[in-house]
Amino acid sequence: MIQLIRGFKDILPGEVELWQHIEKTAAGLFEQFGFQEIRLPIMEHTELFARSIGQDTDIVEKEMYTFPDRKGALVTLRPEATASVVRSYIQHKMYATDPVQKLYTIGPMFRRERPQKGRYRQFYQINAEVFGIDSPLIDAQLIFMLSALFTRLSILDTSVHINSLGCPACRPDFKKALSLFLADVKEKLCPDCIRRHGQNPLRVLDCKVPSCRESIVGAPSLGDFLCDHCRRHFATVTRSLEGLDVPFVIDGKLVRGLDYYSRTTFEVRTEALGAQNAVAGGGRYDGLVKALGGPDIPGIGFAIGFDRLTEVTGLKGKDFVKKPDVFVAALGEKSMALALEWVCALGLEGLVVEMGAGEKSLKSQMKRADRLGARHVLIVGEKELAEKTAILRNMATKVQSALPMDHIVKNVIENINSAHP
Ligand code: ATP
Ligand code: MG
Repeated sequence: MIQLIRGFKDILPGEVELWQHIEKTAAGLFEQFGFQEIRLPIMEHTELFARSIGQDTDIVEKEMYTFPDRKGALVTLRPEATASVVRSYIQHKMYATDPVQKLYTIGPMFRRERPQKGRYRQFYQINAEVFGIDSPLIDAQLIFMLSALFTRLSILDTSVHINSLGCPACRPDFKKALSLFLADVKEKLCPDCIRRHGQNPLRVLDCKVPSCRESIVGAPSLGDFLCDHCRRHFATVTRSLEGLDVPFVIDGKLVRGLDYYSRTTFEVRTEALGAQNAVAGGGRYDGLVKALGGPDIPGIGFAIGFDRLTEVTGLKGKDFVKKPDVFVAALGEKSMALALEWVCALGLEGLVVEMGAGEKSLKSQMKRADRLGARHVLIVGEKELAEKTAILRNMATKVQSALPMDHIVKNVIENINSAHP
């Protein structure tokens, strides 16, 4: 039997309802905050990711699904969404009408990592991105919106970790200090970090290897190196978050796995996930639009790990499965033809409908109606045909009413509504 590819997964009925619920909740919340949806291709020119994410990142070095298409051009299944959103923002000159654009997108990402709990090779993200706003107030609003989503999804044991990565004016000094520090602990670092630390010492702070994590404990903190502008920006973000009652932890060693971040950087973690404890990450990327060939317009955004969200929320897909309002149980060919008509008409009226699937007896149809959690069963057999009625049974109260077949759709809806006003 052919199985799915390792690290990929099916989202089955019974689970998918939770995914739908989360999608709807996120979209609804984001739209309240002025965001519009954007849908993007899952494949892009490799160069887009190589240039935006950065050459010596885990993603670009070893995780991308890159291959030549049939004519030889290198294409990549997107490992993250921000690069594509920025590409689209530039390509369609969205800034021409209004540099301020608030966009969200939901969809699959691909990274060839070691599959384990909370880490897949095709996983899903919910992204929100804001272009054209320099003010630190938008940083705070974005983090507020992110934590409001967790609250709406009943995910309570999360913590927001926040840091400033500085800007091209102040980061070089920090990099120098960090490089000096790392030179001293070099023999304790993993081979990747030894290779990278000269070129890009910030990467070492993001390394997940335990010995690297231990080695950086005494490393210099970004906060001590910020220029006045970055310091003020960060102070406004934290002050605004306090005003908005969003609890946060300042983490001087928080950097992100992507190269293009500047100033505000944040991550949401939860204790419920074990090793893969990041449920969302984001930050400012003020230089990215320009680096990818657009005008000098700032940006900020976040990505939520959708799969991990489904694992930490106490909500269950089964609780969102739609139950039939009416199950039509019919016996005999004539009745079954009527059942088909009724089910189609009731469905068009907006009810959730189901009918017998060819079961021989009324009993087995009632059993299936019960298993599906049907609220009402509409019964029609020889006797009802003769009397030109159908029996509507309320499955909760067990009350049965004989309804005339004439205008049956109207009769059923009236009966249901009078029972549940
Ligand atoms: P991690 O530290 O867990 O490797 P990351 O820094 O690589 O995460 P980002 O690129 O910031 O992650 O992506 C944002 C979010 O997407 C993460 O916080 C996480 O919840 C989720 N995510 C990242 N990689 C995976 C994966 N392979 N499988 C499932 N979710 C993932
Ligand atoms: Mg990662």
